Amino acid sequence: MRIRVDDLVEVITGDDRSKRGKVLRVDRAAGKLVVEGVNKVFKHVRRSQRNPQGGRLSKEMPIPACNVLLVCQACGKATRAGVRFLDDGGKERFCKKCSAGMGQVAPPRTRYAKK
Ligand SMILES: [Zn+2]
Repeated sequence: MRIRVDDLVEVITGDDRSKRGKVLRVDRAAGKLVVEGVNKVFKHVRRSQRNPQGGRLSKEMPIPACNVLLVCQACGKATRAGVRFLDDGGKERFCKKCSAGMGQVAPPRTRYAKK
């Protein structure tokens, strides 16, 4: 999965298709993520000590990561992300449409640095 917390993503399937939002949480093991404002459900809560009113609570539920695309900051399009090595041996994600870098995802590693 090439998506991280705080990325801007666009949903490409389901009721929230074409909605854009910030990634709030990523569950790598399940391949799911929670996107701000996407897949909102009402959770009905009983009256309790913590929530004396009870009622309906609106919250986002996780969606499969394959249902979203990363939004490129450079060209503004929803795009697939590639990963490429940098000259210093670090890795960065890049936009497959305009090939602009989308931020480093691994620290420089001299072992893999180009000489
Ligand atoms: Zn781009």
